[in-house]
Amino acid sequence: MDHVTTFAEFIIKLLGALCGFKPTFDNIIYSDSNLADNDMISLSLNDTFKFSCSRQVPCFNECCRDLNQFLTPYDILRLKNHIGIPSNEFLERYTQQHVGPESGFPIITLKPDHGSDMKCPFVTSNGCSVYNDRPSSCRTYPIVRVVSRSRETAEITERYMLIQEPHCLGFKEGKTQTLKEWIDDQDMAVYNKMNDMLMEIISLKNRLKPGTLDLKSSYLFNMACYDLDRFRSHILDQGLLDDLKLNSDTLYMIRTDDVALLKLGLQWIKRVFCGTE
Ligand code: SF4
Ligand code: SF4
Repeated sequence: MDHVTTFAEFIIKLLGALCGFKPTFDNIIYSDSNLADNDMISLSLNDTFKFSCSRQVPCFNECCRDLNQFLTPYDILRLKNHIGIPSNEFLERYTQQHVGPESGFPIITLKPDHGSDMKCPFVTSNGCSVYNDRPSSCRTYPIVRVVSRSRETAEITERYMLIQEPHCLGFKEGKTQTLKEWIDDQDMAVYNKMNDMLMEIISLKNRLKPGTLDLKSSYLFNMACYDLDRFRSHILDQGLLDDLKLNSDTLYMIRTDDVALLKLGLQWIKRVFCGTE
């Protein structure tokens, strides 16, 4: 798998929660008018499908233009570290911010290159320049992960759909693999785990405190979820979380480990917005 497209997982999983977009089959169809009913196939983990993407496909790079690429907090963490710049610089240089009309939470999208087919800033003639740290929706394509969370038990249920878009020729001569092999091959476990933490916060917030955010709340969400280096500096230099009486191990982790810092940020946001740990 060399690279992939944009909107599948986010449309279902994050936009669904942020904007009130409900993860149903109809919405998936709605998300792309070129899709017909038989272009969407539900898959179980042991089901097989035929697909592969490489530089040899005639449609190479086709899916990295007309960009509508949403980024999750973990996507941003991986991308800014791949490029080697601080989070605020990454956000400024490569992204645009929107407001989820239902939740009021800030939503981040990649800033397309307006001069050339709205292509992704990371696509090159050799494919994806951030391949090892490409966003989760790029990884899973042409699979969509549909997630729901039980209000009673908080249990997360997932199911998977295969999307066969007309422009994608990777189905023609692809290798046959099970869905489970595909998920493992794309290294999705860590992305799913981190994205599900955000999903839980959004669904809790929409249920407990529906409506827009004030400017301060929006700033805090943006910092703890997307602008991790600023969040780190606010904790270490400005005492942002002093009331939590963080121990020395946690403070060390905050200095050195972005993933642990993001987990802390998500837990803190959950407490601030939902009043729950
Ligand atoms: S991040 Fe990579 S795979 Fe994803 S749209 Fe951009 S160039 Fe394509
Ligand atoms: S085969 Fe599909 S995923 Fe690969 S480049 Fe073509 S359109 Fe993109």
